[in-house]
Amino acid sequence: MRQSHRISTLNGDAKDDGWGLFNLARARIAQGAEIIELTQGEHDIGTDARILEAMHASAMRGVTGYSPVPGLPKLREAVAKRLSERTGVATTPDHVQITPGGQAGLFAAHNATCDPGDRALYIDPYYATYPGTLRAVGAVPVAVEARSRHGFQPRAEAIAEKAEGAKSLLVNTPNNPTGAVYGIETLEGIARVTQDHDLWLISDEVYDTQVWEGEHISPRALPDMAKRTLVVGSMSKSHAMTGSRLGWVVGPPEVIQNLTFLANATTYGVPGFVQEAGLHALSLGVDLEEEIAAPFRRRRAIVLRLVEGQNVVRAIPAQGAMYTMLDIRATGLSGEAFGRELLDHEAIAVMPGESFGHAAAGHIRLALTTDDARLEDAVARLLALAGRLAERNS
Ligand code: PLP
Repeated sequence: MRQSHRISTLNGDAKDDGWGLFNLARARIAQGAEIIELTQGEHDIGTDARILEAMHASAMRGVTGYSPVPGLPKLREAVAKRLSERTGVATTPDHVQITPGGQAGLFAAHNATCDPGDRALYIDPYYATYPGTLRAVGAVPVAVEARSRHGFQPRAEAIAEKAEGAKSLLVNTPNNPTGAVYGIETLEGIARVTQDHDLWLISDEVYDTQVWEGEHISPRALPDMAKRTLVVGSMSKSHAMTGSRLGWVVGPPEVIQNLTFLANATTYGVPGFVQEAGLHALSLGVDLEEEIAAPFRRRRAIVLRLVEGQNVVRAIPAQGAMYTMLDIRATGLSGEAFGRELLDHEAIAVMPGESFGHAAAGHIRLALTTDDARLEDAVARLLALAGRLAERNS
């Protein structure tokens, strides 16, 4: 039987979905290999016991039935309060749809804004699922490159060049994979282009609690932007709740109303006991968020210190998020080929830059998700391998 064109082409021309090396590493681990994994954005701690206890208590109290599809009123209220306080934009519960994670929020936001065949812009380097998410709603993904030499901050002119006839623009700050935190100038440029070309702006802010330099600014807070901006947020990264699948979309109430109809037709909401656990997690305040973010700040410093001690690999110092990008072009290899060497010879798994688009080719991304000592050991061995490869190449 023939499957739909949309689902058969979800990965576009890519030979895999960008997770080839990751899958290979996981297969070797399943066969008993010892591999240091610096691949996925997954904390090396579990969800805080207080949050799990709240989840358990909620389920035991009987919150196990269907829950309100747009989300529990109290959680919508807490998310609205959070965004009002953090961004200064007055936000009420009817601006909030609770979703099963940020990923479902990205899918919902593009469903709300793009019709089949519409051009949907996104910034390259990008989080590996983006093009598939855009294709999943029938949109045509159009990449706009942000350059390494510009600190991976997208330029308004580059976006404008592709914006004619487009419907939406997807941005992500703090950024995965580059670690860029968009400054006010970048965001004003983005706002200008979306206004000039009447684009929806979809702002993925799932790393908003992980900022090492500068400050997180939500583009929804810029003048006149709230009416065309849909913010995607999540508890995954801020509260180490990746497996709980809890996120949100924040936008104009008339969009949220339609997202509720979409959720009626797809997910039918998020489990109530997970939402109550999320509510409890938010009530624990910023101390917990800082505690969860702290190891990434520390490990970023470890990587930068080690990289400083040699001159083959160049680090792009992350301003935010739980990753560091390394430019390995001096080895003469692509990110993909270097990643394969690293896995085969050093049993260290990383993500090749090519998994995140053209602009990150010749780079690798390290997820700072293993303990400090193992990370230090892995980076030292990675740099030594890069040194040997560069010598062979010269
Ligand atoms: N957006 C970005 C940039 C991400 O890196 C991720 C996950 O790694 C997500 C969205 C999706 O996160 P979740 O669905 O767990 O909220």
